[in-house]
Amino acid sequence: MIVTGGSRGIGAATVRAAGRAGYDVCINYRSSAEKAQALVDELQAMGRRAIAVCVDMANEADILQLFESADRALGPVSVLVNNAGGVPSGRHRVDSIRADDLDQVLRLNLGAVILASREAVKRMSTAHGGSGGVIINVSSASARLGAPNLWMDYAAAKGGVDTFTQGLAIEIADEGIRVNGVRPGLIDTDMHAATGMPDRVVRAAKHLPMKRAGTAEEVAEAILWLASPAASYVSGAIIDVAGAR
Ligand code: NAP
Repeated sequence: MIVTGGSRGIGAATVRAAGRAGYDVCINYRSSAEKAQALVDELQAMGRRAIAVCVDMANEADILQLFESADRALGPVSVLVNNAGGVPSGRHRVDSIRADDLDQVLRLNLGAVILASREAVKRMSTAHGGSGGVIINVSSASARLGAPNLWMDYAAAKGGVDTFTQGLAIEIADEGIRVNGVRPGLIDTDMHAATGMPDRVVRAAKHLPMKRAGTAEEVAEAILWLASPAASYVSGAIIDVAGAR
């Protein structure tokens, strides 16, 4: 299994759950080297093979390097979790969106999903001599809600992820690959502090239907189920893990 953005948050919870489920894992990260290495150590202690690869998912050459590293160390990928993503710093309205920030938001949150899926399909597809696999794209409830006054550019990118999930699922349905998405609501991770709003989870949680944010582990459970043979006839689905929001 390759987990992009696997060093922290939802990605790290997915890596741990994958280790418990018996997967060998390639963990991608960009800056959290110590956390990624600690996860590698954790998985190896469980008897799994694991590597951590530092590449920027917003860069195509780096994405190629990630897959080549996984090929060399672990063999061809059977599950890809497109999880790396993030929002721009601070909140902004449409009238303050800058073209260079927009480019980065789209490259990371949408471009990386499409390009990494391309590399996975080349390895998994029975049409390319592969033995099948599963792709799981981590979207966001903001794809439905639009994130007005916050990050509409990010929300629009996630909307693109959902559209891509549905199209790709159909395109390669008879090539042994299932493609699904999870759409987390407000999840208690470091992502919010990185946007300059460290208290966002506490402030927003009381306005949510369940009066609490979700946990990274609750999202990871859905990802692992989608990856498993228990979901063998599930493709083109997008599971909301958003506490009724
Ligand atoms: P997080 O705690 O901030 O972790 C983000 C992960 O992505 C880290 O492992 C980070 O690596 C990696 N990453 C960021 N930019 C990268 C890049 N350019 N190249 C490679 N890796 C990169 O975020 P999270 O809350 O777990 O979010 C995970 C996914 O869930 C994202 O796609 C996010 O949009 C989505 N999501 C989150 C929420 C939420 O409320 N938390 C809600 C809906 C959707 P480093 O640590 O090495 O930088």
